[in-house]
Amino acid sequence: MLTDNFLRKHTYLRVSVTDRCNLRCRYCMPPDGIELLPHDEILRNEEFEKIIEIFIKMGVKKIRFTGGEPLVRKGLVDIIASIHKAHPDITLCLTTNGVLLDEFMEELKSHGVSKFNISLDTLNRERFMELTGRDYFDRVLSNIEKIMQEDSLDIKINAVLLRETLSEIDDFLDYFAGKNITLRFIERMPVTEQDSSNEFVPADELIELLKAKGELVRKETEKSDVSQRFEMIYKQKFLKIGIIPPVTHKFCSSCNRLRLTSEGQLMTCLHSQAKYNLRDLIRSNVCEEDIMNYISSAVKEKWSGHKIECTADNKGCRSLTATTRAMSKIGG
Ligand code: SAM
Ligand code: SF4
Repeated sequence: MLTDNFLRKHTYLRVSVTDRCNLRCRYCMPPDGIELLPHDEILRNEEFEKIIEIFIKMGVKKIRFTGGEPLVRKGLVDIIASIHKAHPDITLCLTTNGVLLDEFMEELKSHGVSKFNISLDTLNRERFMELTGRDYFDRVLSNIEKIMQEDSLDIKINAVLLRETLSEIDDFLDYFAGKNITLRFIERMPVTEQDSSNEFVPADELIELLKAKGELVRKETEKSDVSQRFEMIYKQKFLKIGIIPPVTHKFCSSCNRLRLTSEGQLMTCLHSQAKYNLRDLIRSNVCEEDIMNYISSAVKEKWSGHKIECTADNKGCRSLTATTRAMSKIGG
């Protein structure tokens, strides 16, 4: 079991399979994109499989594939198929911007992916273009419509809370109430040095707004659940809501997550600068036991929690450990 010095047990691995993306979300990467990793620095399919296999042996039960945009990574389905074949009991999840979902949905389902998080920050086509730099709104919404037909899947729509989209809350509720999804809102986190002075919308402000729109009931959550869960009756329709407040209500003390980046680095926290190079160990044929020992010591070194500070008026925040590493390189 991957236990750290604060007795947190790590059973959830988020795997960023690529640093490439077909969108340019303003809060995630600069408009001109980021400097991309050379191909040979990115893990090959079989290297992903080997490393994931080791984490499973060490107690990981849930794996989320993310990016960049995971669906632009060639061979993603092969990696997933191989993990699912060997470990059908592992929960497989995907976080995607939805642009390519129609091309891959059937295959992903058939290889055991049961939880889909789809990012959508606006229901306005022009604003989508402004926020993401690309004109894919219709395509994403049509793919969301398609996946919502699948009753057997756990689907979450994730919107990063932005001051300029707060006015769209009614549109989100109107569109998704009564549908087969959970609507989640995420506090925007400062990740890079450029983010350091940026404003964010505190989750409590959204909760107050939602209370004014309908009946909102807070539900119990599991300890490791990062979202505050609510059930809402809105215009006589039922809707599950999740609110993820990493800035104003940090959940580090119950964190069960580890991250593997596309270049094979283990990150024990999204906001930590500590990185552990698993790629070089795999490429130099270090034995599995030594890699496991290396991972165990890395996890032991995990810090108690992130160092994001809010301004006195709670409208801005900054990370004391920001680097130049964009969120799109870590995987959210
Ligand atoms: N491309 C995929 C997508 O957009 O869903 C997966 C990668 S993306 C980095 C994963 C999630 O991180 C998305 O839901 C995105 O909105 C979120 N994200 C990116 N930058 C963020 C930030 N600064 N604060 C909070 N969430 C962020
Ligand atoms: Fe947007 Fe996801 Fe791409 Fe970042 S990685 S730019 S959040 S689509």
